[in-house]
Amino acid sequence: MDTDNPNWFAPTRVTARVELETVQPPLLQEDEPPPFSVIAGSETSPYLITCDHAGRELPRELGTLGLSRAELDGHIAWDIGAGGVARRLATELDAFLIMQPYSRLVIDCNRPLDAPSSIAQHSEYTVVPGNQRVSAPDAEMRARSIFHPYHHRIRCELDRRATQGQPTIFIAMHSFTPTFMSVARPWHIGVLYNRDSRLGRILLELLGREAALVVGDNEPYAASDRTDYGIVQYGERRGNPHVELEIRQDLIADDAGQTAWAELLARLFREASTRFPS
Ligand SMILES: [Zn+2]
Repeated sequence: MDTDNPNWFAPTRVTARVELETVQPPLLQEDEPPPFSVIAGSETSPYLITCDHAGRELPRELGTLGLSRAELDGHIAWDIGAGGVARRLATELDAFLIMQPYSRLVIDCNRPLDAPSSIAQHSEYTVVPGNQRVSAPDAEMRARSIFHPYHHRIRCELDRRATQGQPTIFIAMHSFTPTFMSVARPWHIGVLYNRDSRLGRILLELLGREAALVVGDNEPYAASDRTDYGIVQYGERRGNPHVELEIRQDLIADDAGQTAWAELLARLFREASTRFPS
């Protein structure tokens, strides 16, 4: 499937600072959350922030995917704290922000649709019963309901900016669990990039000046075409400066942590952006 050019939804125009789309995706009922929420930001801000794993909603039709409440509240279902940081950072930078509220276990919006982990059959030690035998039509339904409308909305914004000459600095906001497969992770924040390290290198330099921080350079993951979608499509392929950020979840579990990290990142991004011609 050509995931870069779907026609599921007509382009929409940003008319309000807070915008919730109302077009009804096929898997979702009218009273369920839409597949994305947008804060439009300022038309002079270069920043565009995405949060692919901001929420842990499940479409009612999928039940609990066979998981317990505790499992659905944990890191396998969503990026704990990332949405809070993204909202605060967007406010600081007057950025365009788009967040995806459904659990990544429904369909991972930071994976190509043909990646085996697009609909994860297991995560860390947890088997996901509801994802063991997902038929092609059911996978397509999940994509049409969440993945496509979310990414289409991002493309609409990028196209609008390109048409109107508004530059884009693309930030993909994520968070990671402090311990994975019984191994503790030392980093406070990870800076991820692949082919285009322009912004990543600058941020690594700026974060390196923060003496208290342990900063991961493509840690705890390295970005790649198979494990990432946003920075590939919206950064590399469109030539926009970009970075994927991973913040450790225990640092941003509450309001104070989210605010502190958003303020730090806003300061560093302002400094970083002066190094890009606009
Ligand atoms: Zn994530």
